[in-house]
Amino acid sequence: MKIDWRRNNTLTNFFFNCSSCDLESKTVIEDFLDKKLQKILNIKSEKLNDAIEKGIIKFFEFHTRPALQFRKGIGRIEDGTTIYFRDKIEIIRGFPKIRRTLLLSPTLKNHFEDEIVVEEKMNGYNVRIASIGDEIVALTRRGYMCPYTTKKAVEILDLSPFFNDNPDLVICGEMVGTENPYVSHYYEEIGNLGFRVFDLRKKISNEPLPIKDKQKILNKYGLPGVRVFGTFKVNEAPEKIKEIIKQVGENKREGVVMKDPEMEIPPLKYTSSRAHDDEIGYAFTYPFDFGRDFFFSRVIREGFQAYEMKESEKELQKRAQRLGESILNPMIKTIKNVASGNQATEDMTIDIENEEEAEEFLRYLHNLGVYAVIHKIEGNKAIIRRIHQSTTDKITNLLNGGLY
Ligand code: ATP
Ligand code: MG
Repeated sequence: MKIDWRRNNTLTNFFFNCSSCDLESKTVIEDFLDKKLQKILNIKSEKLNDAIEKGIIKFFEFHTRPALQFRKGIGRIEDGTTIYFRDKIEIIRGFPKIRRTLLLSPTLKNHFEDEIVVEEKMNGYNVRIASIGDEIVALTRRGYMCPYTTKKAVEILDLSPFFNDNPDLVICGEMVGTENPYVSHYYEEIGNLGFRVFDLRKKISNEPLPIKDKQKILNKYGLPGVRVFGTFKVNEAPEKIKEIIKQVGENKREGVVMKDPEMEIPPLKYTSSRAHDDEIGYAFTYPFDFGRDFFFSRVIREGFQAYEMKESEKELQKRAQRLGESILNPMIKTIKNVASGNQATEDMTIDIENEEEAEEFLRYLHNLGVYAVIHKIEGNKAIIRRIHQSTTDKITNLLNGGLY
């Protein structure tokens, strides 16, 4: 079936509204959508049509040229996949979801083959960096080009030599540190803001390079990779990882990602008790803004980890106490805060050169539907304040005698 792009008018509407798109590129895009995209991505034309009609595939204008964003996964194509129409058509696939294991044994033995590479799981936000024509862009998980991330990625990393030699690779990594507008976490070796690469993947196919090849390339171009704890035989891995995860937690770090050395088997993630409690603490700081599923899944993680660690009564008691404290303490703090007339807010610091940069970042957040304001600008730091409205309203209502 040929896709009738004109019938649902998406493309025509897009060009109608796109002041700087030339009509020549319309023909290129039509041709690409009709003839090539289905083949490259291996999705049926009916599915594509349907996705366009539902707005799952969305056209947008990027630096005066048309682009396409997959707002949800379709078939094997991950959500966050972005296509740029330049002299060359560039396809940057979304970063695949990593499944979680609750138990190390027997899951690792079932899932992996001979050996497992254990990498550190860094707690920040996922970024894909790619070269598009003569530009370098940094995309967040859902495929948005974040202006702050793009600027910082280029500042932190020396990317040109890498992309000159490897224009068809995408750098996948985590933006970490405290001056982080999405997930602020302190790492002593990083401080304000840093980047750690965990995968190199091919454009179009999303195929990851084997771990050894990745490490060779990272070394060659001086790009910082995530920490590697070691490579273990599947049989010995559970015991080793138990020890690693205890250390990771004690150092207030998040967890591990376990990978097949060839990257032919999908990786798995496993996290520390400390990370679970931190996230529960965050959720209960804004109890009416975070879903119950969020809470439930983290408690389940604790249950299975405690079981597998064969903890003594004393250790178990400690775990239970920490869990309880991370539920109650943050919530009580927020109730007190709202009771004294404040809103439930969350501050994030970003590093800026001028006020306009903070405003640009805020416009970007507003476009994503995130409600935030610039709270303060002090020198080259801007404090962006997010307001958690449901939590503020619900607590206010309850404090005024409302019923639950
Ligand atoms: P998802 O489960 O869909 O990946 P999530 O937001 O729940 O999304 P996390 O629980 O943080 O994600 O776990 C997956 C993420 O971990 C990856 O998307 C990546 O950003 C991050 N990550 C950190 N370190 C690594 C690593 N060494 N290898 C792979 N991913 C890593
Ligand atoms: Mg994460």
